[in-house]
Amino acid sequence: MPEAMITPKQLRKFLAPYRITDGKGLRLKDHGPHDTGGLASQEKQKAKDLLARGVDWLADAQGRLYADDRWSVLLIFQAMDAAGKDGTIKHVMSGVNPQGVQVVSFKAPSAEELDHDFMWRCLKVLPERGRIGIFNRSWYEEVLVVRVHEALLARQRIPAELVTRRIWAERCEDIVNIERYLARNGCLILKFFLNLSRGEQKKRFLERLDNPDKHWKFSTADARERGHWSAYMDAYESMIRRTATEHAPWYVVPADNKWFSRLVVAAAVVDALAGLDLRYPDVGPEKLKELAEAKRMLQQEED
Ligand code: ATP
Ligand code: MG
Repeated sequence: MPEAMITPKQLRKFLAPYRITDGKGLRLKDHGPHDTGGLASQEKQKAKDLLARGVDWLADAQGRLYADDRWSVLLIFQAMDAAGKDGTIKHVMSGVNPQGVQVVSFKAPSAEELDHDFMWRCLKVLPERGRIGIFNRSWYEEVLVVRVHEALLARQRIPAELVTRRIWAERCEDIVNIERYLARNGCLILKFFLNLSRGEQKKRFLERLDNPDKHWKFSTADARERGHWSAYMDAYESMIRRTATEHAPWYVVPADNKWFSRLVVAAAVVDALAGLDLRYPDVGPEKLKELAEAKRMLQQEED
């Protein structure tokens, strides 16, 4: 995090194992969900302090992003259920001005959405310049849940001659192209795969079942999806291989320890925003004169 002791170079180094800009040959089994980047669990407090500093820094950077009004930022979150998407979003964004951030959750598509191409619903809700947009799930569901459950593809009513075995590769290619287009228009894209282990998911589901305050979070359908775990992991791996690029990197974030996954996400966002050199716009001499005049008038006013 940007503080005297941590340089941008050190931050990059810390993030390097998780940042994927070229997915060729990536194997998820080389990315342990339990990894804590060399930080021992006794250092959890240190990680939390670092996260708090990162959150403060982000709040400040977001003010500059907004005033600068040229870049938009899109943070995409994908994960298996109970990997902590919601909590991560909540923590990392806790300091920022709600006016500058929008969170959109993508669920199973509606009838209206199914009447359009798959990007349609996402493109409508991209962040404006100056704002941070968070996608809780995204267009990537189209090569994840839809790939694992091919019956969902049939519901999309795509002409049969266009649906070939290459469809998943083609979808990834289209996604890469759209992301490049957005990047070229000033949209900074970061993608996070919260990489949870199957065992940790089981533990979290059981906690939900044991704690009445968490019952609302449990869904039998989520538990059923566990049965497709390896199909999902194959789909994630193939997706990251095909869509990790320099203009829209994937972060494969170890997610079995929440304190660590939140730190990695915060650090990645800090790193990306720090690279933009965001400044409050300079005001010209005319404006300065106007401000001095306004000040004089206010000071002369009788209370
Ligand atoms: P929560 O933490 O509230 O459970 P969630 O993101 O899991 O959040 P749900 O309403 O439980 O929200 O789930 C959304 C469901 O919609 C997921 O199962 C997801 O796979 C599915 N979904 C999202 N996009 C698509 C899509 N394009 N086609 C089919 N299903 C989709
Ligand atoms: Mg859910």
